[in-house]
Amino acid sequence: MNIEEIRAMFPVLHQEVNGKPLIYFDNAATTQKPQSVLDALTGYYEHDNSNIHRGAHTLADRATRFYEETREGVRDFINAKETAEVIFTKGTTESINLVASSYGRKFITKGDEIIISTLEHHSNIVPWQMLCEEKGAILKVIPINDRGEILFEEFDKMLSDRTKFVSIVHVSNALGTINPVKKIIKLAHQVGAKVLLDGAQSTNHLEIDVQDLDCDFLAFSAHKLYGPTGLGILYGKRSILETMPPYQGGGEMIKEVTFAKTTYNDIPFKFEAGTPNIADVIAFQKALDFISCFGKANIKKHEDELLDHANIAFGQIKGFVPVGTAAEKVSVLSFNIMGMHPFDVGVMLDANGIAVRTGHHCTQPLMQRLGLEGTVRASFSVYNTKKEIDQMAISLSKIAKIKNK
Ligand code: PMP
Repeated sequence: MNIEEIRAMFPVLHQEVNGKPLIYFDNAATTQKPQSVLDALTGYYEHDNSNIHRGAHTLADRATRFYEETREGVRDFINAKETAEVIFTKGTTESINLVASSYGRKFITKGDEIIISTLEHHSNIVPWQMLCEEKGAILKVIPINDRGEILFEEFDKMLSDRTKFVSIVHVSNALGTINPVKKIIKLAHQVGAKVLLDGAQSTNHLEIDVQDLDCDFLAFSAHKLYGPTGLGILYGKRSILETMPPYQGGGEMIKEVTFAKTTYNDIPFKFEAGTPNIADVIAFQKALDFISCFGKANIKKHEDELLDHANIAFGQIKGFVPVGTAAEKVSVLSFNIMGMHPFDVGVMLDANGIAVRTGHHCTQPLMQRLGLEGTVRASFSVYNTKKEIDQMAISLSKIAKIKNK
């Protein structure tokens, strides 16, 4: 891979911030978009803008075809059996809420147990808490060790015939830990529980094969995969989706409406009420093309090299304290500088043109478990370079010196 050629595809990278060339290390929050995605967005509005699925005219037909082509692109990307198992949503958050509301309201009852982990993003905690409150179900949390890895034996002990659902993050956004999800799914299935994977941070870095993983649901967001914001995906097994009631009512999701009774559309349309996010879905195909053009394995290799490089470069800085040192990780490096608030470190890095995330990363319970208010998080993507990391190491060591002489 020629990284300079890849960088040239991302217009946003070529700017100065606070008088310094932008170094964008906030990729776990959202990745930048290649020109092909931007062109597809404007191209849709310039040439094809039309409502999909029910138009008799050429533009509607074209927009529908492009929209459904992305559904096939996503099916292929995660190796789902069929496109009917791919539902477009607003994001990972909405995908999880859809499952908690629809599957949860129908199948979870008083005394049932739902298992999540300490590593979860708020969007994989709160929907389950809301469901438990409504149904009188019990939320159980898999503990972690100090490296940020789940305690698998504890999970094993938690499972029983009361376990009805396991919803777990595949890769932690705060620490980068890769969870052993295949083993988790296998054990959960042995007690008859269904499993949802929060793939917001894994789909970008790891090969995903939902049939091989055998997950019942997978939720992820296009914007973390070089695609547009406001678009998410929910994969679900046909046999389960078909038993679930609609999440929202409206146009598109019906077969026939009378004032006496409404019959619902087939999957996936049953779960896509209203005019969907047509332009973003169409443009997302270009993001998937971008990934397949370089290959996830090559992208991951580059990102892993960046992570190794950063661990060494930052590790030499006095006062640098890494947070989350799991054996299996993606290119996310959380840390603190001794004696300094993460937000202050982030602001000082920004003054040098370096974009990182600071705070609790929407994982407050994880931060509480680690005894931290928050961290600074640098997350690397395909278009980042070792030179940028060296630049950050120079800035960071100057910042760290303020409190670590
Ligand atoms: N889960 C994880 C692990 C995430 O990193 C994020 C985004 N930070 C989400 C869920 C929520 O994704 P979105 O905001 O795109 O719905």
